[in-house]
Amino acid sequence: MKKPHDDPPTNWCDWWTEVHQLTPDIAYGWPRNEDPCEDEPNPWFWHWCPPQGRWNGAGTSNHTLVSRSPLHLEPSLLWPCCGTHGFVRNGQWESV
Ligand SMILES: [Zn+2]
Repeated sequence: MKKPHDDPPTNWCDWWTEVHQLTPDIAYGWPRNEDPCEDEPNPWFWHWCPPQGRWNGAGTSNHTLVSRSPLHLEPSLLWPCCGTHGFVRNGQWESV
């Protein structure tokens, strides 16, 4: 299932809740079927990956969820597929 850049994750309401577009190329959302035993699951991220020409999804289970709202994750997020790298603090993406 390959979606174009103009069909971003905020359109994909089936599997995710509270999907937010951080930048035109980065979005995050929460799995709809959260494990009730896990009280603070981490969000799922998508970034538009130019080398792959698609929205590339990845979990953040290795990151510390400092705050859910506004979203704050530590440490920085780095996707080796294209080198997209930045922090999510105070609900904002900060490129590194
Ligand atoms: Zn990438």
